[in-house]
Amino acid sequence: MRAWEKNIRQVVPYTPGEQPKVTDVIKLNTNENPYPPAPAVREALQNMDASALRLYPDPRADALVEVIARYYGISAEQVFVGVGSDDVLGMSFLTFFNSDKPILFPDITYSFYDVWADLFRIPYETPALDENFCICARDYDKENGGVIFPNPNAPTGEAVELSFIEDVLSHNQDVIVIVDEAYVDFGTSSALPLIEKYENLLVVQTFSKSRALAGLRIGYAMGNKRLIQALNHVKYAYNSYTMNTPSIVLGVKAIEDKEYFEDITARIIATREYAKEEFRKLGFMFGDSKANFLFVTHPRYTAEEIFEYLKTKKIYVRHFNRGRIKNYLRVTIGTKEQMEAVFAALKTMIGSEETRTN
Ligand code: PMP
Repeated sequence: MRAWEKNIRQVVPYTPGEQPKVTDVIKLNTNENPYPPAPAVREALQNMDASALRLYPDPRADALVEVIARYYGISAEQVFVGVGSDDVLGMSFLTFFNSDKPILFPDITYSFYDVWADLFRIPYETPALDENFCICARDYDKENGGVIFPNPNAPTGEAVELSFIEDVLSHNQDVIVIVDEAYVDFGTSSALPLIEKYENLLVVQTFSKSRALAGLRIGYAMGNKRLIQALNHVKYAYNSYTMNTPSIVLGVKAIEDKEYFEDITARIIATREYAKEEFRKLGFMFGDSKANFLFVTHPRYTAEEIFEYLKTKKIYVRHFNRGRIKNYLRVTIGTKEQMEAVFAALKTMIGSEETRTN
């Protein structure tokens, strides 16, 4: 090792899902929305004036912050925007988790949390989900430097009730509690109403899933204005221009088209419930996901076998090859037609035998 290498920060990076270069695949591996963004977004993109890009963007992204605030009936001072919720969450770890005590998050959860904790040298503990992959509220009663969990959880899709979140909050009044609501729009109650009651609660959401804009990179946090101010201070200490001009303009259009958002979300929920039936008929086991994906396992075929087989049929799903979840696959809910293709492929692999016995 060279002397200068000793001073290089060593990190184990997060591994994002594969983005295949070919387009003739059914891509159900990164929880993207199978539908295009709202028509108003497409129209605004076509009419965009490239000369506007000569100027720096609005560092406060006021137009976007204001439209989000109005949509949720809160004030602009209660909203922080970032480059996808990954940016917002990373910034939140840096801003709020500064204690010597460990932060707490589930052992099976979004696999970026431990990466940020390591990057920012934040100690952490990961209480185990129970055998049904449920979070146990009592695991979060102990002294800690902060709490974060997704609702619904990823990659399990299991959601908790608001009473559970209040329970965790009531035992954690002296630290920041972050609820990562990346998948909340697919059928879970948001903890947003609780921000008025709990000044230490931060709710984080994204345009990547329910608003079909993963490529635009917009995420946002909502909470007490002092939390938002603290996030802004850290942001301005790092990079003032996180939100680019097209993201601000197109993000506003996306929020404004509520009807389209509600339509595609309802369609994904309906397809998810159809997919549950079909997976069940084929002998798969899974929890009651409230997200835009299902986390499935089969008693007779390994996740790896199914993953590889589907890939030969040009169907990409996600396999996290580790620990308790190595025999599970996370399958994003696509269009009805895409899911029909998945089940046609699985039927040839798993056979009709399961269908008869179920
Ligand atoms: N939170 C969870 C639980 C996720 O699964 C994801 C998607 N990888 C994110 C946050 C980040 O999504 P984005 O940065 O696209 O908003």
